[in-house]
Amino acid sequence: MPVTELGAAERMLDELRLWVEHETPTTDAGAVNSLMDRCEADLRDAGGHITRLPGRDGFGDTLICRTPGTGAPVMVAGHLDTVWDHGTLAGPMPFRVEGERAFGPGIYDMKAGSYMAFHSVREILRQKVPTKRPITLLLTPDEEVGSPTSRIPIEDAARGARAVLIPEPAGAGGACVTARKGVGRFDIAIRGVSAHAGGNWAEGRSAVVALARIILAIHAMTDLAAGITTNVAPIRGGTRPNVIPPEAGCEVDLRVPTVALGERMEAAILALAGEADGIAITVTGGMNRPPFAETPDILELYNRAAGFAQQHGYALPTQHRGGGSDGNFTAAMGVPTLDGLGCTGAGAHAPHEHILWQDLAPRCATLCGLLETIG
Ligand SMILES: [Zn+2]
Repeated sequence: MPVTELGAAERMLDELRLWVEHETPTTDAGAVNSLMDRCEADLRDAGGHITRLPGRDGFGDTLICRTPGTGAPVMVAGHLDTVWDHGTLAGPMPFRVEGERAFGPGIYDMKAGSYMAFHSVREILRQKVPTKRPITLLLTPDEEVGSPTSRIPIEDAARGARAVLIPEPAGAGGACVTARKGVGRFDIAIRGVSAHAGGNWAEGRSAVVALARIILAIHAMTDLAAGITTNVAPIRGGTRPNVIPPEAGCEVDLRVPTVALGERMEAAILALAGEADGIAITVTGGMNRPPFAETPDILELYNRAAGFAQQHGYALPTQHRGGGSDGNFTAAMGVPTLDGLGCTGAGAHAPHEHILWQDLAPRCATLCGLLETIG
Protein backbone atom coordinates (compact mmCIF):
# COMPACT_ATOMS: atom_id res chain seq x y z
CA MET A 1 0.00 0.00 0.00
CA PRO A 2 1.38 3.39 -0.93
CA VAL A 3 -0.04 5.13 2.15
CA THR A 4 3.34 5.71 3.78
CA GLU A 5 5.05 7.29 0.80
CA LEU A 6 6.18 10.89 1.02
CA GLY A 7 3.29 13.32 0.98
CA ALA A 8 0.71 10.65 1.76
CA ALA A 9 -0.44 12.37 4.95
CA GLU A 10 -0.81 15.69 3.07
CA ARG A 11 -2.93 14.06 0.39
CA MET A 12 -5.06 12.29 2.97
CA LEU A 13 -5.57 15.54 4.86
CA ASP A 14 -6.65 17.30 1.65
CA GLU A 15 -9.42 14.78 1.12
CA LEU A 16 -10.31 14.53 4.81
CA ARG A 17 -10.77 18.28 4.80
CA LEU A 18 -13.66 17.85 2.33
CA TRP A 19 -15.29 15.43 4.80
CA VAL A 20 -14.84 17.80 7.74
CA GLU A 21 -16.15 20.77 5.75
CA HIS A 22 -19.25 18.72 4.99
CA GLU A 23 -21.03 19.06 8.35
CA THR A 24 -22.94 15.95 9.40
CA PRO A 25 -24.87 16.37 12.65
CA THR A 26 -26.58 13.09 13.56
CA THR A 27 -29.93 14.90 13.45
CA ASP A 28 -29.64 15.88 9.76
CA ALA A 29 -30.21 12.74 7.69
CA GLY A 30 -29.84 14.67 4.42
CA ALA A 31 -26.41 16.00 5.35
CA VAL A 32 -25.17 12.57 6.47
CA ASN A 33 -26.56 10.98 3.30
CA SER A 34 -24.89 13.43 0.95
CA LEU A 35 -21.47 12.60 2.44
CA MET A 36 -22.47 8.94 2.10
CA ASP A 37 -23.31 9.58 -1.60
CA ARG A 38 -19.73 10.73 -2.17
CA CYS A 39 -18.34 7.60 -0.47
CA GLU A 40 -20.72 5.30 -2.31
CA ALA A 41 -19.80 6.71 -5.72
CA ASP A 42 -16.06 6.27 -5.12
CA LEU A 43 -16.38 2.77 -3.71
CA ARG A 44 -18.67 1.70 -6.56
CA ASP A 45 -16.21 3.10 -9.14
CA ALA A 46 -13.42 1.18 -7.42
CA GLY A 47 -15.38 -2.07 -7.83
CA GLY A 48 -16.91 -2.49 -4.38
CA HIS A 49 -20.18 -4.37 -3.98
CA ILE A 50 -22.52 -1.79 -2.46
CA THR A 51 -25.58 -2.21 -0.26
CA ARG A 52 -27.28 0.93 0.98
CA LEU A 53 -29.86 0.55 3.72
CA PRO A 54 -32.34 3.43 3.76
CA GLY A 55 -32.43 5.48 6.95
CA ARG A 56 -35.38 5.51 9.32
CA ASP A 57 -36.60 7.44 12.37
CA GLY A 58 -35.00 10.61 11.05
CA PHE A 59 -31.48 9.21 10.70
CA GLY A 60 -29.35 8.79 7.59
CA ASP A 61 -28.65 5.65 5.57
CA THR A 62 -26.14 2.91 6.32
CA LEU A 63 -23.62 2.12 3.59
CA ILE A 64 -22.10 -1.35 3.26
CA CYS A 65 -19.27 -2.03 0.81
CA ARG A 66 -17.91 -5.53 0.29
CA THR A 67 -14.72 -6.49 -1.51
CA PRO A 68 -14.66 -9.65 -3.65
CA GLY A 69 -13.82 -13.01 -2.10
CA THR A 70 -15.32 -15.80 -0.07
CA GLY A 71 -15.20 -16.86 3.55
CA ALA A 72 -15.67 -14.99 6.80
CA PRO A 73 -14.85 -11.34 6.18
CA VAL A 74 -12.89 -8.82 8.16
CA MET A 75 -15.25 -5.99 9.05
CA VAL A 76 -14.31 -2.35 9.50
CA ALA A 77 -16.90 0.19 10.65
CA GLY A 78 -17.00 3.94 11.17
CA HIS A 79 -19.68 6.55 11.76
CA LEU A 80 -20.12 9.59 9.53
CA ASP A 81 -22.23 11.58 12.01
CA THR A 82 -20.79 14.05 14.50
CA VAL A 83 -22.09 15.79 17.63
CA TRP A 84 -21.63 19.20 16.02
CA ASP A 85 -24.55 21.26 14.70
CA HIS A 86 -24.60 23.10 11.40
CA GLY A 87 -22.78 26.41 11.63
CA THR A 88 -19.97 25.11 13.83
CA LEU A 89 -17.50 25.44 10.94
CA ALA A 90 -18.62 28.96 10.10
CA GLY A 91 -18.55 29.89 13.78
CA PRO A 92 -16.18 28.68 16.47
CA MET A 93 -14.45 25.73 14.75
CA PRO A 94 -13.34 26.38 11.18
CA PHE A 95 -11.15 23.73 9.58
CA ARG A 96 -7.59 24.88 10.18
CA VAL A 97 -4.09 23.46 10.37
CA GLU A 98 -1.69 24.76 13.01
CA GLY A 99 1.60 22.92 12.85
CA GLU A 100 1.03 19.26 13.57
CA ARG A 101 -2.63 19.78 14.51
CA ALA A 102 -5.63 19.89 12.19
CA PHE A 103 -8.82 21.25 13.79
CA GLY A 104 -12.46 20.96 12.84
CA PRO A 105 -15.81 19.61 14.03
CA GLY A 106 -15.76 15.83 14.19
CA ILE A 107 -12.26 15.52 12.71
CA TYR A 108 -11.06 13.35 15.62
CA ASP A 109 -14.37 11.64 16.48
CA MET A 110 -14.32 10.17 13.98
CA LYS A 111 -14.10 11.58 10.49
CA ALA A 112 -10.36 10.90 10.36
CA GLY A 113 -10.88 7.25 11.33
CA SER A 114 -13.88 6.68 9.07
CA TYR A 115 -11.95 8.32 6.26
CA MET A 116 -9.00 6.00 6.94
CA ALA A 117 -11.33 2.99 6.70
CA PHE A 118 -12.90 4.29 3.49
CA HIS A 119 -9.53 5.20 1.96
CA SER A 120 -8.03 1.80 2.83
CA VAL A 121 -10.88 -0.14 1.27
CA ARG A 122 -11.00 2.11 -1.79
CA GLU A 123 -7.27 1.70 -2.40
CA ILE A 124 -7.40 -2.06 -1.83
CA LEU A 125 -10.16 -2.20 -4.47
CA ARG A 126 -8.52 0.20 -6.92
CA GLN A 127 -5.11 -1.43 -6.73
CA LYS A 128 -6.55 -4.94 -6.51
CA VAL A 129 -4.43 -5.56 -3.43
CA PRO A 130 -4.78 -9.21 -2.42
CA THR A 131 -6.30 -9.69 1.04
CA LYS A 132 -6.52 -12.94 2.96
CA ARG A 133 -10.23 -12.41 3.52
CA PRO A 134 -12.93 -10.29 1.93
CA ILE A 135 -13.55 -6.96 3.66
CA THR A 136 -16.91 -5.55 4.74
CA LEU A 137 -16.87 -1.79 5.29
CA LEU A 138 -19.78 -0.13 7.11
CA LEU A 139 -20.32 3.63 7.23
CA THR A 140 -23.11 4.48 9.67
CA PRO A 141 -25.28 7.53 10.46
CA ASP A 142 -26.16 7.55 14.16
CA GLU A 143 -23.38 6.38 16.49
CA GLU A 144 -23.35 9.61 18.46
CA VAL A 145 -26.85 8.93 19.75
CA GLY A 146 -26.22 5.24 20.53
CA SER A 147 -26.65 3.72 17.03
CA PRO A 148 -30.41 3.17 17.33
CA THR A 149 -30.82 2.37 13.61
CA SER A 150 -27.36 1.05 12.70
CA ARG A 151 -26.99 -1.42 15.55
CA ILE A 152 -28.82 -4.21 13.70
CA PRO A 153 -26.88 -3.75 10.44
CA ILE A 154 -23.65 -3.68 12.45
CA GLU A 155 -24.56 -6.88 14.28
CA ASP A 156 -25.73 -8.53 11.03
CA ALA A 157 -22.42 -7.72 9.36
CA ALA A 158 -20.39 -8.82 12.37
CA ARG A 159 -22.17 -12.17 12.63
CA GLY A 160 -19.78 -14.63 11.04
CA ALA A 161 -17.00 -12.04 10.63
CA ARG A 162 -13.47 -13.13 11.47
CA ALA A 163 -12.68 -9.84 13.20
CA VAL A 164 -13.99 -6.29 13.57
CA LEU A 165 -11.81 -3.19 13.34
CA ILE A 166 -13.13 0.12 14.65
CA PRO A 167 -11.12 3.25 13.77
CA GLU A 168 -12.59 5.38 16.56
CA PRO A 169 -10.10 8.01 17.80
CA ALA A 170 -6.80 6.84 19.27
CA GLY A 171 -6.33 7.46 22.98
CA ALA A 172 -3.48 9.07 24.88
CA GLY A 173 -0.10 8.15 23.40
CA GLY A 174 -1.86 6.76 20.31
CA ALA A 175 -3.46 3.92 22.28
CA CYS A 176 -5.89 1.55 20.65
CA VAL A 177 -8.77 0.11 22.64
CA THR A 178 -9.03 -3.51 23.77
CA ALA A 179 -11.91 -3.04 26.25
CA ARG A 180 -14.70 -0.56 26.86
CA LYS A 181 -17.28 -0.13 29.55
CA GLY A 182 -20.89 -0.97 28.91
CA VAL A 183 -23.33 1.93 28.81
CA GLY A 184 -26.84 2.12 30.24
CA ARG A 185 -29.35 4.91 29.67
CA PHE A 186 -32.49 5.55 31.70
CA ASP A 187 -35.28 8.09 31.90
CA ILE A 188 -37.00 8.73 35.20
CA ALA A 189 -40.41 10.44 35.28
CA ILE A 190 -41.96 11.49 38.56
CA ARG A 191 -45.58 12.49 39.08
CA GLY A 192 -46.59 14.30 42.26
CA VAL A 193 -49.60 16.42 43.26
CA SER A 194 -49.77 20.12 42.47
CA ALA A 195 -51.12 22.64 44.93
CA HIS A 196 -50.86 26.35 45.69
CA ALA A 197 -47.49 26.85 47.35
CA GLY A 198 -49.01 29.36 49.77
CA GLY A 199 -52.69 28.50 50.18
CA ASN A 200 -52.66 24.70 50.47
CA TRP A 201 -49.07 23.56 50.67
CA ALA A 202 -49.96 20.47 52.71
CA GLU A 203 -52.14 19.08 49.89
CA GLY A 204 -49.21 19.09 47.45
CA ARG A 205 -46.66 16.36 46.82
CA SER A 206 -43.52 17.80 45.27
CA ALA A 207 -42.16 15.82 42.34
CA VAL A 208 -39.02 17.97 42.48
CA VAL A 209 -38.25 16.95 46.07
CA ALA A 210 -38.79 13.30 45.10
CA LEU A 211 -36.43 13.81 42.17
CA ALA A 212 -33.79 15.33 44.44
CA ARG A 213 -33.83 12.16 46.57
CA ILE A 214 -33.58 9.98 43.46
CA ILE A 215 -30.62 11.99 42.15
CA LEU A 216 -28.71 11.49 45.40
CA ALA A 217 -29.58 7.78 45.46
CA ILE A 218 -28.30 7.30 41.90
CA HIS A 219 -25.19 9.36 42.53
CA ALA A 220 -24.44 7.12 45.53
CA MET A 221 -24.47 4.05 43.25
CA THR A 222 -21.14 5.17 41.77
CA ASP A 223 -18.32 2.85 42.82
CA LEU A 224 -15.07 3.99 41.26
CA ALA A 225 -13.10 1.04 42.63
CA ALA A 226 -15.51 -1.35 40.91
CA GLY A 227 -15.49 0.73 37.71
CA ILE A 228 -19.15 1.74 38.06
CA THR A 229 -20.16 5.33 37.41
CA THR A 230 -23.52 7.08 37.25
CA ASN A 231 -24.40 10.54 36.03
CA VAL A 232 -27.76 12.30 36.24
CA ALA A 233 -28.35 14.90 33.51
CA PRO A 234 -30.31 16.68 32.31
CA ILE A 235 -32.99 17.22 34.96
CA ARG A 236 -36.40 18.77 34.54
CA GLY A 237 -39.21 19.77 36.87
CA GLY A 238 -41.74 22.28 38.06
CA THR A 239 -43.65 25.05 36.39
CA ARG A 240 -43.48 28.19 38.57
CA PRO A 241 -42.34 29.11 42.06
CA ASN A 242 -45.80 29.34 43.56
CA VAL A 243 -46.93 25.89 42.41
CA ILE A 244 -45.95 22.66 44.20
CA PRO A 245 -44.43 20.82 41.24
CA PRO A 246 -46.54 17.93 39.92
CA GLU A 247 -43.92 16.69 37.43
CA ALA A 248 -40.18 16.19 37.42
CA GLY A 249 -37.72 13.88 35.77
CA CYS A 250 -34.18 13.20 34.68
CA GLU A 251 -31.98 11.10 32.45
CA VAL A 252 -29.27 8.80 33.75
CA ASP A 253 -26.02 7.55 32.24
CA LEU A 254 -24.53 4.34 33.69
CA ARG A 255 -21.10 2.82 32.92
CA VAL A 256 -20.07 -0.69 33.97
CA PRO A 257 -17.08 -2.92 33.21
CA THR A 258 -18.84 -6.32 33.10
CA VAL A 259 -22.11 -7.85 31.94
CA ALA A 260 -22.88 -9.06 35.49
CA LEU A 261 -22.46 -5.58 36.97
CA GLY A 262 -24.56 -4.20 34.13
CA GLU A 263 -27.41 -6.54 35.03
CA ARG A 264 -27.13 -5.75 38.73
CA MET A 265 -27.01 -1.97 38.23
CA GLU A 266 -29.81 -2.03 35.67
CA ALA A 267 -32.00 -3.87 38.17
CA ALA A 268 -31.08 -1.41 40.95
CA ILE A 269 -32.00 1.61 38.86
CA LEU A 270 -35.24 0.09 37.55
CA ALA A 271 -36.13 -0.75 41.18
CA LEU A 272 -36.37 2.97 41.97
CA ALA A 273 -39.80 2.89 40.32
CA GLY A 274 -42.84 2.79 42.56
CA GLU A 275 -45.70 4.70 44.07
CA ALA A 276 -46.02 6.01 47.62
CA ASP A 277 -47.62 8.96 49.41
CA GLY A 278 -48.91 10.60 46.23
CA ILE A 279 -45.62 10.31 44.32
CA ALA A 280 -45.41 7.95 41.32
CA ILE A 281 -41.98 7.14 39.89
CA THR A 282 -41.57 5.52 36.46
CA VAL A 283 -38.18 4.29 35.25
CA THR A 284 -37.57 3.30 31.63
CA GLY A 285 -34.40 2.26 29.82
CA GLY A 286 -31.63 -0.19 30.49
CA MET A 287 -28.24 -1.26 29.23
CA ASN A 288 -27.72 0.20 25.76
CA ARG A 289 -24.20 -0.91 24.88
CA PRO A 290 -22.93 -4.10 26.51
CA PRO A 291 -19.42 -4.11 27.98
CA PHE A 292 -16.59 -4.88 25.55
CA ALA A 293 -14.20 -7.11 27.49
CA GLU A 294 -10.62 -7.93 26.52
CA THR A 295 -10.15 -11.56 25.40
CA PRO A 296 -7.17 -13.60 24.15
CA ASP A 297 -8.52 -13.24 20.58
CA ILE A 298 -8.60 -9.46 21.00
CA LEU A 299 -5.03 -9.45 22.32
CA GLU A 300 -3.96 -11.52 19.31
CA LEU A 301 -5.45 -8.86 17.01
CA TYR A 302 -3.74 -6.21 19.08
CA ASN A 303 -0.35 -7.94 18.78
CA ARG A 304 -0.72 -8.02 15.02
CA ALA A 305 -1.59 -4.31 15.00
CA ALA A 306 1.32 -3.45 17.29
CA GLY A 307 3.66 -5.28 14.90
CA PHE A 308 2.50 -3.15 11.98
CA ALA A 309 2.78 -0.01 14.09
CA GLN A 310 6.37 -0.89 14.92
CA GLN A 311 7.14 -1.40 11.22
CA HIS A 312 5.75 2.06 10.56
CA GLY A 313 7.84 3.61 13.30
CA TYR A 314 5.52 4.14 16.23
CA ALA A 315 4.38 2.44 19.41
CA LEU A 316 0.77 1.29 19.82
CA PRO A 317 -0.18 1.02 23.49
CA THR A 318 -3.55 -0.36 24.62
CA GLN A 319 -6.25 1.27 26.65
CA HIS A 320 -9.45 0.28 28.44
CA ARG A 321 -11.90 3.10 27.78
CA GLY A 322 -14.98 4.33 29.67
CA GLY A 323 -16.80 5.55 26.56
CA GLY A 324 -18.82 3.14 24.44
CA SER A 325 -18.67 2.61 20.69
CA ASP A 326 -20.10 0.28 18.07
CA GLY A 327 -17.26 -2.05 19.05
CA ASN A 328 -19.25 -2.84 22.21
CA PHE A 329 -21.92 -4.53 20.08
CA THR A 330 -19.53 -6.69 18.10
CA ALA A 331 -17.27 -7.61 21.03
CA ALA A 332 -20.32 -8.64 23.04
CA MET A 333 -21.21 -11.05 20.20
CA GLY A 334 -17.84 -12.73 20.73
CA VAL A 335 -16.32 -11.41 17.49
CA PRO A 336 -12.70 -10.33 18.12
CA THR A 337 -12.83 -6.53 18.01
CA LEU A 338 -10.01 -4.00 18.04
CA ASP A 339 -11.02 -0.36 18.52
CA GLY A 340 -9.34 3.02 18.75
CA LEU A 341 -7.49 2.41 15.47
CA GLY A 342 -8.25 5.92 14.20
CA CYS A 343 -6.04 8.99 14.24
CA THR A 344 -4.21 10.50 17.19
CA GLY A 345 -5.41 13.82 18.57
CA ALA A 346 -7.62 15.11 21.35
CA GLY A 347 -10.78 17.00 22.20
CA ALA A 348 -13.60 14.68 21.09
CA HIS A 349 -16.91 16.55 21.53
CA ALA A 350 -14.95 19.64 22.68
CA PRO A 351 -14.07 22.95 20.98
CA HIS A 352 -10.36 22.12 20.74
CA GLU A 353 -11.07 18.89 18.81
CA HIS A 354 -8.12 18.10 16.54
CA ILE A 355 -6.00 15.34 15.04
CA LEU A 356 -2.23 15.06 14.70
CA TRP A 357 -2.52 14.96 10.94
CA GLN A 358 0.96 13.58 10.15
CA ASP A 359 -0.15 10.37 11.84
CA LEU A 360 -2.89 9.81 9.24
CA ALA A 361 -0.56 7.87 6.93
CA PRO A 362 1.18 5.57 9.44
CA ARG A 363 -2.07 4.87 11.34
CA CYS A 364 -3.81 4.11 8.04
CA ALA A 365 -0.92 1.82 7.05
CA THR A 366 -1.54 -0.24 10.19
CA LEU A 367 -5.25 -0.43 9.45
CA CYS A 368 -4.46 -1.56 5.88
CA GLY A 369 -1.98 -4.10 7.18
CA LEU A 370 -4.68 -5.62 9.37
CA LEU A 371 -7.25 -5.61 6.56
CA GLU A 372 -4.82 -7.35 4.23
CA THR A 373 -3.32 -9.97 6.53
CA ILE A 374 -5.92 -11.15 9.05
CA GLY A 375 -6.31 -14.78 8.08
ZN1 LIG B 1 -17.08 8.20 17.62
